[in-house]
Amino acid sequence: MAENTNAFSMAQQQFDHVADLLGLDHQVRELLRWPLREYHLRLPVHMDDGGLRVFQAFRVQHNDALGPNKGGLRFHAAETADTVRALAMWMTWKCAVADIPLGGGKGGVVLDPATLSANEKERLCRAFIRELWRVLGPRQDVPAPDVGSNAQMMGWMMDEYSRITGQYTPGVITGKPVGGGGSLGRKEATGYGVIYTLREAMKCLNIDSTQTTAAIQGFGNVGQYAAKGFISELGGKVVCVSYWDREDRAAYTVYKQDGIDPEFLMNITDQYGSIDKDKAVQADYSIEEGDDWITKEADVLIPAALEGQINAETVKNIHERVKIVAEGANGPTTPEADQVLMERDIFVVPDFLCNAGGVTTSYFEGVQNDMNFYWTKSEVLEKLDDKMTQAFKGVYDMAQTQDVFMRDAAYMVAINRVVKGMELRGWL
Ligand code: GLU
Repeated sequence: MAENTNAFSMAQQQFDHVADLLGLDHQVRELLRWPLREYHLRLPVHMDDGGLRVFQAFRVQHNDALGPNKGGLRFHAAETADTVRALAMWMTWKCAVADIPLGGGKGGVVLDPATLSANEKERLCRAFIRELWRVLGPRQDVPAPDVGSNAQMMGWMMDEYSRITGQYTPGVITGKPVGGGGSLGRKEATGYGVIYTLREAMKCLNIDSTQTTAAIQGFGNVGQYAAKGFISELGGKVVCVSYWDREDRAAYTVYKQDGIDPEFLMNITDQYGSIDKDKAVQADYSIEEGDDWITKEADVLIPAALEGQINAETVKNIHERVKIVAEGANGPTTPEADQVLMERDIFVVPDFLCNAGGVTTSYFEGVQNDMNFYWTKSEVLEKLDDKMTQAFKGVYDMAQTQDVFMRDAAYMVAINRVVKGMELRGWL
């Protein structure tokens, strides 16, 4: 039978498995396997040529027992209600595992953002807020950037919300531009968070990080800063990066024998993660057509693109040298592929632990907005490192004491916290 790669089924399957391990009550499961609320929107937007386009959009609020719903807005052509539901659910676990007082939410707009001009994008962002502002706010639901969205878009949305409510409200959204209510370090946060948890994993496995290599899938915000951090923080070498080329509608893998230079590649990458192939070749990079990151000889694999990339099919191609998968993306590994990783004894730093650095720094951004006082970049990154290290330790201890796979341990920590939060509020 073909593997079911529907993201929401995957998220529910992972949840059900751990709910069994925890012996969770049936009614509690019913509450947690679905979002508490969801909004389905149609957004009419005037295009630059005078025409009208209607966009389909979603905002899903999965659970807010521990605090306001929190999570990004994806602008992607393949977005569906189910991908957003899955991502919202993963946000609940992510905030809980990171031990920050926030719930889980996610939004999505079905479109390829590269097809819009800056003005069209701004009108779309403002339309999204006009439709949804009543259910958003620093104490209700706080969006953030994700695939296909960026700091400028967050800035426009914060402005629209503040205009409608008549009050400057930077805390309604995070990932805003620095100088416009944003936090220093937010841009680097998800990628660096991946590296902090990876560093802890290597310590537990007695691996000398300076002797390691990594292969990365995706060269957007997460992949870029994970690549930088792998070199600067761990002293390792990144052997290749796979990315999706928008124009060619094909995947490519860029590599260099003695290690890629992320700074150089970032300078020749557009805002959607497509690398300029000609410039890369001129600088002695090799380029292969195909999404080959997973086959490369490396110690660490860092999926930093979309969900379902390590699946029943692709997992077979993982090189025997691979020791750790550090999941920068949300939901990159299917339950069937998880089985194979387990059998092969590959250590997994699971997504909602590994990539929690983004939302943790969003939380710091909200705190700074509330205080109206801003920290330095090193203060932010130090606090982030501390939170990520604690989160990793909590999950690793659970994995050791319960003798379970790291993903299950992360779910156990997260579900326990959310259930306790619901109990304390009298929901259960
Ligand atoms: N979109 C990011 C994530 O998936 C960040 C969410 C946030 O900062 O709220 O974790």
